[in-house]
Amino acid sequence: MTNSLPEMAEIWQQTLNWQPTAQQQEQFQRLYELILEGNRQLNLTRITDPEEFWEKHLWDSLRGIAPQGQFISSLQEGASVIDIGTGAGFPGIPVKIAAPNCTITLMDSTRKKITFIEQTLTELALTNAKTLVGRAEEIGQQPEHRQAYDIALIRAVGTASVCAEYTLPLLKQGGLAIIYRGNWTEDETTALQNAVKQLGGVIELIEKFTTPLSESIRHCVYLRKVATTPVQFPRATGIPTQKPL
Ligand code: SAM
Repeated sequence: MTNSLPEMAEIWQQTLNWQPTAQQQEQFQRLYELILEGNRQLNLTRITDPEEFWEKHLWDSLRGIAPQGQFISSLQEGASVIDIGTGAGFPGIPVKIAAPNCTITLMDSTRKKITFIEQTLTELALTNAKTLVGRAEEIGQQPEHRQAYDIALIRAVGTASVCAEYTLPLLKQGGLAIIYRGNWTEDETTALQNAVKQLGGVIELIEKFTTPLSESIRHCVYLRKVATTPVQFPRATGIPTQKPL
């Protein structure tokens, strides 16, 4: 018997000015159960305690789409979203549960993780949700994905400059990249500024916040695409990490 996730209605309200419906709460609970089951065969996550799962996977995923504590309105208006290096589905699956009108593409280079996600999407009855196996370096050069998305999410995939090179080519002009980070330094801002300039983006906001239960420090970096990304980006597989911009 799996533990129940806490509801945390007051915290949702206070921090994100939002509360899950009964159906969304059930979907969060079922997602938690499926991840615990999937963990028996796949190394999906080390976070299995219900409160920790709520904070580090659910709340953290949704905090990123709520800069300054308000959900991005285009998400409820059918925005197209891609989650790069989604792993077990974070932040993409909680985002799709909270914003069911968006279209989401969950992408990862590991086939096994995407197979798990496909089963999870079916179990949760989430529609307008696609999956993609591949590397960001290759997918960013494919005409059907390049400049195709309104919002690109990326958590725990690489340094901010690498994340910028993975996300910005996939965005339409005017689109938003959301990079989820733990700690952040001024040196990272300087490196990222240099990278985004080459990629056709600008840093719109770097937001620092603390998580509501363990009071851990987090940052979200919001990049706006303001110009076409030059064709040489993203560079070939492995180059963005070996030679960051
Ligand atoms: N985003 C999830 C989260 O925050 O829980 C998973 C993070 S996990 C540490 C990193 C994931 O990114 C792995 O599932 C890995 O397969 C994927 N990944 C790493 N580099 C990638 C790339 N270049 N393109 C696509 N996926 C990548």
